[in-house]
Amino acid sequence: MYIVQIASECAPVIKAGGLGDVVYGLSTELESQGHSVELILPKYDSMRYDHIWGIHDAYRDLWVPWYGAAIHCSVYCGWVHGRVCFFIEPHSQDNFFNRGCYYGCDDDSMRFAFFSKAALEFLLVSNKRPDVIHCHDWQTGLIPVMLYEMYKFHGMGNQRICYTIHNFKHQGIDGARVLHATGLNNESHYFQYEQLRDNFNPFAINFMKGGIVYANAVNTVSPHHAWEAHHTDVGAGLSHTIHLHQHKFSGILNGIDNNFWDPETDRYIPENYNIDNIDAKAKNKKALRERLLLQEVNKPIVAYIGRLDAQKGVHLVHHAIYHSLNRGAQFVLLGSATAPDINGQFQHEKHVLNDNPHVHLELGFNEELAHLIYAGADMIVVPSNYEPCGLTQIISLKYGTVPIVRAVGGLVNTVFDRDYDSTKPPEKRNGYVFNDTDYHAIDFAMERALWLWFNDKDEYRMLTKQGMEYDYSWNNSANDYLGIYETIRHK
Ligand code: ADP
Repeated sequence: MYIVQIASECAPVIKAGGLGDVVYGLSTELESQGHSVELILPKYDSMRYDHIWGIHDAYRDLWVPWYGAAIHCSVYCGWVHGRVCFFIEPHSQDNFFNRGCYYGCDDDSMRFAFFSKAALEFLLVSNKRPDVIHCHDWQTGLIPVMLYEMYKFHGMGNQRICYTIHNFKHQGIDGARVLHATGLNNESHYFQYEQLRDNFNPFAINFMKGGIVYANAVNTVSPHHAWEAHHTDVGAGLSHTIHLHQHKFSGILNGIDNNFWDPETDRYIPENYNIDNIDAKAKNKKALRERLLLQEVNKPIVAYIGRLDAQKGVHLVHHAIYHSLNRGAQFVLLGSATAPDINGQFQHEKHVLNDNPHVHLELGFNEELAHLIYAGADMIVVPSNYEPCGLTQIISLKYGTVPIVRAVGGLVNTVFDRDYDSTKPPEKRNGYVFNDTDYHAIDFAMERALWLWFNDKDEYRMLTKQGMEYDYSWNNSANDYLGIYETIRHK
């Protein structure tokens, strides 16, 4: 099958979070199963050019219709760790992708509406006719709309769209100008409730809603999050839209790329290990302590890796630092915050804890350090308010680091409480789970994990091994996507 992925991220060249991992990992697995996959991405100034090989002109004069005129673009082609990627570079005063960042600009919706239009235009003029176009998140939500309202009539009538929602929080909301810019010219049509009109703001259109309405198949990134999005407020206003389109909506668990996340082959960690020599993990713990200037003592290391965002339950992350220290553990945090108040809070905390030899807060994004933490820590906390899938707990399991997670979204589908899970036999349980967002809930889960570490090393080792036995690689999930692709391409 010929599949084109269109997205705003692809790890490691463009990665702000799990979306980048998913786009790269899924594409790699599909290729390894013999399918042909190409990716279309924006050409950001701030992406990691050192991860692109052989970049060259692919299409010099792409003219993308925009506000009744056209913007001149160049398209470059290069290989990102084996994947063929096309990067679109617009030449206009808007400077859409030369902002020193991927997201967070006032005109984000216009930037990605343009990208979506440009990606379709590129497919059209370069005569690429994939069986399936796979789009991701709000940034590409208008692609199914434009395919079925415009490009279908210009020779792209056989293309089908799979649309994956990685996070319902950001939906792409803007006014009628987006319709005028992209050439979706029938304003009263698109502003109908059944179409793109935002479910709350009658004067706005909603990109993600457009994606749900027009795509041939829609999914989010875990079965439990699919249920939550349909039946709770986690759908962020789109649950009724999902309800109307439930026949084509599902949840597929994200996988991890085993070539990148494997303690046996990981190039970023000083000591490789696997389930049969898990004690070698201790050397990584030592290296982590040396790197972060933590004291070498008989204590477990509790970690947090992830964005510092309200979604991630930052009040519980903050609490977990002090709870760990009070209970005789060490704590390592690697995270970055975009919200100034959260950033300020953790900067302050870093300052306060600066001289404490049992804690280190690293504020920023650091891929290499993340690998060392996964390998060196004993347990990791994931106290999210909501979590569509979550990769940190999946990576932790693979690295023999016990996850302590809140029972939401994909965390429910991947972590099973050692003491209380009713769905798995004891030998299949792999972590600790809590339900509520108050301090007592996480305290109780952490108490149980720390107690086992201090009092029963053999049982703790057994628990880490049970986690390592889980296979959350792309192998399974890619087959689920292929099932969807097969279904929609014959419709
Ligand atoms: P989200 O997509 O909501 O950010 P996920 O758990 O799905 O969260 O994916 C997070 C990914 O980003 C993981 O691969 C994690 O290791 C990585 N990550 C998050 N924050 C950082 C950071 N500060 N430095 C390095 N890697 C990070």
